[in-house]
Parts: sequence; C-alpha cells; structure tokens
Amino acid sequence: MLQSVIAQHIAKVRQQVEQACHKFARNPIQVKILAVSKKQPAAAIREAAAVGQLAFGENYLQEALQKQTELADLDLEWHFIGPIQSNKTRDLAVHFAWVHTLDRYKIARRLNEQRPEAKGKLQVLIQVNISSEPNKSGVAPSDLLALAEEIQELPQLELRGLMCIPAATDDFAQQRLAFAQLAALHQRLQDAFPEARLDTLSMGMSGDLEAAIAEGSTLVRIGTAIFGARD
Ligand SMILES: *Cc1c(COP(=O)(O)O)cnc(C)c1O
Repeated sequence: MLQSVIAQHIAKVRQQVEQACHKFARNPIQVKILAVSKKQPAAAIREAAAVGQLAFGENYLQEALQKQTELADLDLEWHFIGPIQSNKTRDLAVHFAWVHTLDRYKIARRLNEQRPEAKGKLQVLIQVNISSEPNKSGVAPSDLLALAEEIQELPQLELRGLMCIPAATDDFAQQRLAFAQLAALHQRLQDAFPEARLDTLSMGMSGDLEAAIAEGSTLVRIGTAIFGARD
C-alpha cells in the first residue's frame, strides 16, 4: 500500500518512541503520542487519523474550532496546548477533552464553571515554568502545590499531572536535566495527593522526545516530525 508522507512520519515517530523506551527501560504502552497540528490543515489531520493517530494538540482556539467543525465526522481527542486567555475559557471548556497549559487559579475556576456536566470532567495538566524563564507561561515550581490543591477542589476538572516547555537546547544532558526536574515535581505532587489520578507527564517535542522519555514522559507532543515544518 502506498502510504502518505504523514503516515510515514507517524510510523517513524512511533519507532523513535519505541526505541527510546527500549533504551531507557520504559514500557511503550505508557508513552502516548499527541500530534501537534497547529497551523496544519484539516486534511493533514485526516491523514494522521487514517493511520490511527487520534489525539491532536492545538495552540490557537479559533483555528482549532474551525478544524474541529471540518472533522466532526471523526472521533478525535482534542488537547489544548497553547496559552489561555481568560475570555476564551468557555470554548476550551466545551470543545476540548484536555488542557495542558493551566497555570492560574482564575482560569481553572472559569473552566470548572463552564465545563458542561454532560461532557464529564475536563482533564487538566498544570504547566510549570521549569527553566524559570522570565515572561514565560507556567507556574513557578515553588507555587505548584498550592495551585494543585486549589484545582483539586474543582469538581468539573480532573488534575492528571504536569506539562513543561523547557528552554530550547540541543544538548541531551541539558534536556534531561529540565525533564528530570519536572518528573521530581510530579513525584512530589503524587506524594501530596496519593488519591488523585496523577498519571500524566506531558513533556518532549520533536527535538527532545528521547530525553523526555528517558526521564519518564508519558505523553510526547510532536508537531514537526509528523507534519513537517510550519510556516
Ligand atoms: C508547537 C508545539 C509543540 C510541537 O513542537 P514540534 O517541535 O513541532 O514537535 C509541542 N508543544 C507545544 C506546547 C507546542 O506549542
């Protein structure tokens, strides 16, 4: 069978994930691939879905809603991974299954109020500013437990874990260091809330997925390696 370029890329990414899991004694079943489809057309998402890639990450709300409408015939799982504007929370609460970029209680409270009962709980991750970069999204590591405690109280949200976008580097050891820090925070969170289903560590992109898997990632967010370069 002649495979599309996107299908070939997905096969390659799956292989990369498996190899990294093998190398670092991880079970590949525990590492999910999120296809990051920002700035890619609905047709590209359709090609990915045709080979069983059903979870997609989007950064821009209007663009995502447009594609969701075009792809309404498919049963896809939508993750929001972009910065959240407080006046846009309703559409997030209604049209996404997951939000990876929660970093403020005000936003969490709005999502909780706006999540329709019939959709079940919105699955959320707290974004951590792991490299402590000024003017970057994400809660400071020192404020994480307090925010998590507040989010835990919101009945329409289910806190599943943490997400980070570390400062970009090509150095494997540096990549691992940042991911190890997020994994350590995740462990502290699990210790603080032993009853919670804290099973998700969203870390790793096209350029650093191996380092992320080495440090315990359970969800890699892959754009370029699947869809090619964005404009
Ligand atoms: C764009 C983006 C990705 C994907 O990055 P690639 O390098 O293209 O794989 C992952 N996570 C977030 C939050 C992004 O904005």
